[in-house]
Amino acid sequence: MDVRDLWKNTYEWKGGVMSFKLSQRSLDKLEGVDERLQAIVKTAIHHTKVDFGCICGRRSLEEQRMLVKKGASKTLKSKHLDGLAVDLMAYVGSRASWELNLYDDIADAVAQAARDVGVGVCWGAAWATPYQAYPMDIRDWKGTMENAMNAYIDLRRSQNRRPFMDGPHFELIT
Ligand SMILES: [Zn+2]
Repeated sequence: MDVRDLWKNTYEWKGGVMSFKLSQRSLDKLEGVDERLQAIVKTAIHHTKVDFGCICGRRSLEEQRMLVKKGASKTLKSKHLDGLAVDLMAYVGSRASWELNLYDDIADAVAQAARDVGVGVCWGAAWATPYQAYPMDIRDWKGTMENAMNAYIDLRRSQNRRPFMDGPHFELIT
């Protein structure tokens, strides 16, 4: 079995509409994560057009050190250390995908869920916009998350800085 299948979600029919369900593997990954963020992820799976699983929640300092060493993370002060961030991976059928255009659809679902739960969330592909500094609360963005991402890219370019895109990453604004 492909290791990625471990995170694959099962499908369920709700009112004639295909809806997704978090796998046990995803639920296990959410353990130790702030309960408000868990509630947002568990709500977002019902809103999303694109299937996703949780591949990372709370991290130990040792795990974070390894990621920085590999260049997969830039900071030892990651919100994952405090259980305040999750990484959500997109699935197309049974295949995991890193295609960025899937992640703004997931971010739309997370934004809707953050509004439902009533807690602010910042997305790793729209850290800030010309209108709101980091951490940009995705609940406040009027428009799609694709637009928010483009606004972030424009902001960084106007500053002559490269955008830092981390599409799977969502963190709680505390
Ligand atoms: Zn992350």
